[in-house]
Amino acid sequence: MAKKPTSKKKASTVKKKTAAETKKATPKRVAKKATASRAEPASRAGTKAAASAAAAVPKGAGAAAPAPQASRKTILHKIRAGQETAALRPMPRVHAFARPAATARPSPPEPPAERAPAAKAGPSPEVSRRQTATPAPEAEPAPKGFEQPPTVPVSQPEPEPEPEPGPSLERRPDSGYDPEPDPHPEPQHEPPPPPAQHASRPSLFIVHVTPEMAPVAKVGGLADVVFGLSRELAIRGNHVEIILPKYDTLRYDQIFELHDVYRDLWVPWYDGAVHCTVYFGFVHGRKCFFIEPHSPDNFFNRGSIYGFADDVLRYAFFSRAAVEFLWKAGKHPDIIHCHDWQTALVPVFLYEFYQQLGMTHPRACLTIHNFKHQGVTGVELLRATGLHRPERFFDRVRMGDNRHKDALNLLKAGVVYSNFVTTVSPRYAFETKDGGQGFGLEPTLHTHHMKYGGVVNGIDYDVWNPEVDYHLPVRYGLDNIDAKYDNKRALRHRLMLADNEKPIVAFIGRLDPQKGLELVRHAIFYSLEHGAQFVLLGSSPDQRINNDFWGLKHMLNDSPDCHLEIGFDEDLSHLIYAGADIMLVPSQFEPCGLTQLIALHYGTIPVVRTVGGLADTVFDKDHSDRPLHERNGYRFDDYDAPGLESALGRAIDCYYQYPEHFRELMKNAMRADYSWNRPGQDYLNIYDFIRDR
Ligand code: ADP
Repeated sequence: MAKKPTSKKKASTVKKKTAAETKKATPKRVAKKATASRAEPASRAGTKAAASAAAAVPKGAGAAAPAPQASRKTILHKIRAGQETAALRPMPRVHAFARPAATARPSPPEPPAERAPAAKAGPSPEVSRRQTATPAPEAEPAPKGFEQPPTVPVSQPEPEPEPEPGPSLERRPDSGYDPEPDPHPEPQHEPPPPPAQHASRPSLFIVHVTPEMAPVAKVGGLADVVFGLSRELAIRGNHVEIILPKYDTLRYDQIFELHDVYRDLWVPWYDGAVHCTVYFGFVHGRKCFFIEPHSPDNFFNRGSIYGFADDVLRYAFFSRAAVEFLWKAGKHPDIIHCHDWQTALVPVFLYEFYQQLGMTHPRACLTIHNFKHQGVTGVELLRATGLHRPERFFDRVRMGDNRHKDALNLLKAGVVYSNFVTTVSPRYAFETKDGGQGFGLEPTLHTHHMKYGGVVNGIDYDVWNPEVDYHLPVRYGLDNIDAKYDNKRALRHRLMLADNEKPIVAFIGRLDPQKGLELVRHAIFYSLEHGAQFVLLGSSPDQRINNDFWGLKHMLNDSPDCHLEIGFDEDLSHLIYAGADIMLVPSQFEPCGLTQLIALHYGTIPVVRTVGGLADTVFDKDHSDRPLHERNGYRFDDYDAPGLESALGRAIDCYYQYPEHFRELMKNAMRADYSWNRPGQDYLNIYDFIRDR
């Protein structure tokens, strides 16, 4: 943390109060304090927000969550993108997918009749070249298990027949692969499996293929989602494994019992194959496999996770390696769940190569955490991955980019080839399909709308919970909410802020234009001028943005009411969530947003723009059709300074003028369940749905 000059230190020391005095300054006690009265305006945020939310929701979407026994038809109806936004649902967690009545697992299909490729692996030196699997046969069925919606234009891939019965998961003798020794991928000393909570339903074997997972490889929210969801699925009695690249930057101190389990994995690449070793280790109880390629390309030993010119090839390789590993290790998961463009080729490889080899059992689910990044690339990808026949893959109905006719789009490929596609909130599902936020994928989402929907992320309550958070000097919960103010004092002490009666407004996030950086900047000055303190924690890979914020930091360095921390600091983030009063999330767009979910659980009132997952989880105190006990923050619609002020001004006003109301908001926020409980069930419903088809 950058040290403040003595001037601020002085301010801080001079302003120090006794604990009793500070307690007085908490909202309960600061009623009628000195600031000018700002009556709560019927602002731009208000009725407009409610109206637009309502407009976004088709009639009838306000029905309560469907009963667990809902019919398949009902489920299909519900999962259509954006058909259940939060605004009209009675519970803050939205879009529950009704799980059909438990049925016996369907038998997987017969192995395909076509002859599998006959090329032989020739493991020679570190990188040997060999022929990859031959492409799929000429007939153009859709991916296995894939059903086209009735509205599919004729130019789209043809609907595939229903999966046929008759399991056969053995490796085919003519598969073209040399027999492998049994890789024994399971560790010798596994901890006992978590208790099955739903003993009546058959458990699933679920594999996540992902570029990130907290805390070992974290860049953004995707890492937290894989960490939290995988745990929830395991707690519910499923067998869950996770496949990651073996980055040199992994947090090895967080991986337990790391050891190699598969030494000779040869992954087809260009005309040969790359030798890989697969490791196994536990990450906080999660079973993780790490793939390490031995190649001069040095794919995952680059000092950081992303940001390289060959990122598309790096992750195409990882995706191929993950499926090859599953195949060679004899694993036939029920569900392969991939994430973002980095692993969107997994379903493509499954369908184009591995189904021909007899790997017909797994169904593929793709979660898109952000449509901004799609993995748009050129023909080199086809050469590298063995997806020959450019005329097939450049076709707009498969991988051809919707905007550039000479480009391939990996995320689009994932949408086309997966059995189900989710994004991270119903509102964002709607915005990406119909609200112009799909970054060119709108037509593809329309074509595949029957298998597209939104599930709001959860947060891991083992990590983000003020009652047990070991980062906090004082833990607290609904029953002792006042202890939050001990954390507020600790935060001020740590950041050398003045100890006064003011509310602390905070921002935590990547300093990316997506996060509404102009409004963050405006909010800093607005807060300081309107009787609040401001704390920012953020960083950007873009040096120009970092420099801008460093400039701002220097400009405000002498302010006893402001601290900007440019960097990534997980530990400090916990203290800010606990110590701040108001959390600002003024994003241009926000697929889900974890910041407001964490803030809510810490009783820190979110002030958010009405977009994406923010609109699905934050309900305006003054302008909402939600019952009073579900209102938990402030929202604004317009991406401009007056819009921001209309919400932030009301939050600061409420803190000063209506402290009892502010306290009620805090309780509402802390009471709501934003754990993985509900989204975990939603994903299981989706898995069941695509397995049962
Ligand atoms: P995104 O995935 O777009 O980055 P999310 O809101 O979904 O945004 O997730 C961001 C997560 O990263 C939150 O858990 C937030 O606390 C954390 N985070 C973001 N920036 C920082 C930072 N500079 N230091 C510590 N944690 C951060």
